[in-house]
Amino acid sequence: MITRRNFIYTSSAAFFMAGVPVAAGSIDYPFTLGVASGCPQDHSVILWTRLAPKPLAGGGMPAGNVSVRYRVCTDSEMKTTIKDELVDTNDRKAHAVHVTLNDLKPGHDYWYQFYFGDYESPVGRTRTSDRNAASASFALASCQSWESGYYAAFGEIARWAPDCVIHVGDYIYEGGPSELGEHKREYNGQTLTSRTVRQNNSAEITTLWDYRNRYALYRSDAQLQAAHQASPWLISMDDHEIDNNWAGYTPQDPHKQTQMEFAVRRLAALQAYYEHMPIPEPPRLKGLKSNLQMYGLYRFGPAQVHLLDTRQFRSDQVCGRDHTGEFPCEALTDSKRTMTGAEQEKWLLKNLDKSQAQFNVLAQQTWFAPYRYSEDPKEQQWNLDQWDGYPAQRERLLDKMAQVSNPVVLSGDWHCAHAAQLKRNHLDKKNSVIGHEFATTSISSNCPWSQKVAQAAEFNPHSLYNNGEKRGYLRCEVSRNNWRSTYRTVNDPYDPQSPLSTDQQIDTVDV
Ligand code: FE
Ligand code: CA
Repeated sequence: MITRRNFIYTSSAAFFMAGVPVAAGSIDYPFTLGVASGCPQDHSVILWTRLAPKPLAGGGMPAGNVSVRYRVCTDSEMKTTIKDELVDTNDRKAHAVHVTLNDLKPGHDYWYQFYFGDYESPVGRTRTSDRNAASASFALASCQSWESGYYAAFGEIARWAPDCVIHVGDYIYEGGPSELGEHKREYNGQTLTSRTVRQNNSAEITTLWDYRNRYALYRSDAQLQAAHQASPWLISMDDHEIDNNWAGYTPQDPHKQTQMEFAVRRLAALQAYYEHMPIPEPPRLKGLKSNLQMYGLYRFGPAQVHLLDTRQFRSDQVCGRDHTGEFPCEALTDSKRTMTGAEQEKWLLKNLDKSQAQFNVLAQQTWFAPYRYSEDPKEQQWNLDQWDGYPAQRERLLDKMAQVSNPVVLSGDWHCAHAAQLKRNHLDKKNSVIGHEFATTSISSNCPWSQKVAQAAEFNPHSLYNNGEKRGYLRCEVSRNNWRSTYRTVNDPYDPQSPLSTDQQIDTVDV
C-alpha cells in the first residue's frame, strides 16, 4: 500500500511469524498521546511521541519494528525543513519514539511533527537553551492527581509557552479509583471536602501493562498535551510514579510487598516512565538494579539549573513517617544518610563550584528549608520524607550554596505553595540569607494539611509565604539581576476552563 506519508514496516521475524498482516488502514490514529520535547541544551533537544491507537489498552500496535517519519522546521507552518528522517521503534518500548536532535542553534525555536501511514501528529514547538541569553522563563509544576481536579494550570502554561517547563514529580499517582463526586473526611480536627472529578482506570498499578495504561490516561488530557506541545520539559520523578514514599529499593510498606516484588515493580515503573517522557534512552534498564538517568545540568542564560533525582539513590526514611517523628532518634543525623546518593552529590557540588551563573538552581522534589510543625523543641514535628529527614546532607549542600551566587531551590511534593529564606540557622532572624526556596503548589492534588502548614508559619521565621488551599503552578522569570517568582493559582480546580490569578509575587534581586 502506497501512502503519501512514507509508511514503512521494517520486516521483522516476530511480525511475520505472528501471521497477522497489518495494513496502514487497519491502524487507528496513533498519535493519541500527543508530542513532547525535553532536556533542552544549547545545541540539542529530545523529541518524543508514542504510537498508541488504543492508548488505554496497552497501546494497540502490533508486535514488531516500525519506522516513523519525523520532520523538523524553523517555522511554525512547517515550510522550512532542516531535518526529514525515519526513526525506528518497537513493542519492547511500547512503540515510544525518542529522537535526539543535535547541531541546533542556541536560543532558537524549532517545530516538529511525526508521520505514520496517512496520519500526522500535532505540530510541537521546542526551544534550545542559550547560556548567553539575558533572560529565561520557567514554569514549575508537580503533583497532578488525575482524580482530584482538572488541568487548567497546564492550559495557561501552554498559552504562555515558557522557555522550559520544569516538572519535579508526581506526574501520575499509582492508586486505584475513588468514587466520583464529593467526599468528606476528618483530618486534624477539621472536616475536609474534596471531589473526585474523573476516575483512575484500574486498581493500584504494579505491572508494566498497568503503568503504561496509567501514563496513557494522564496523557489523554488535552491541556497536559498542550503544555508538552508548547515547550520543552525538564522532568524528574518523585514517589507516586512508582509507589508512595519509596526510597532506593525500599517500598513504603515492606509488610505488603517483598523487596523482590518491589524491585520488579520499580523496574516496570521506570520502563513506562522512559516510554512516556522526552528523556535519554536508559543505558542499562535491564537488570533489577537498573536506574534511569534523571539528574542533569542545564543552562538558561542567567540560571544554571541542576535537576536532581532524590528517590532512586535515597536512604530510607527514619524516625517515623510523615510529620510526627518518633524522637529522640539518633539515626536522623547520621551523615551517611542521603537524598541523592554520593555520586550525584559529588556531581552537584562540582557543578556548583564551577558555576559562573548569576542564579544557581536546585530543581528537585521535596521542601528543602526546615519547617517545624511545633514550637516545642521536644515535640520534634518535621516532615521526615522531605529534607528535614536528611539534615546532614542538607548542611553539606548549604555550605556549598553559601559560596555561590544566588542559590535558588525549586521544589514541589507538598501540594502547598511556599517561599522561604535559606539560612544556616533558620530560627535566627539576624542570620544571613544564603538563598531562597520557592515551592510550587500542586497542579491538582489535594492538600489536607494546608491549615497545619499555615498554623505553623509563626514557628518558622524564615518562611515568607504559604498557601495550600489553591492549585496551580509557579512562574519564574529570570533576568541578570532579578529572579521573579509568581504563584499562579486556579480559581476553580473542578472547572477545566477555570481562569487563573496571581496569589503572590516575589522578586529576589541580585545585589
Ligand atoms: Fe504529590
Ligand atoms: Ca510526592
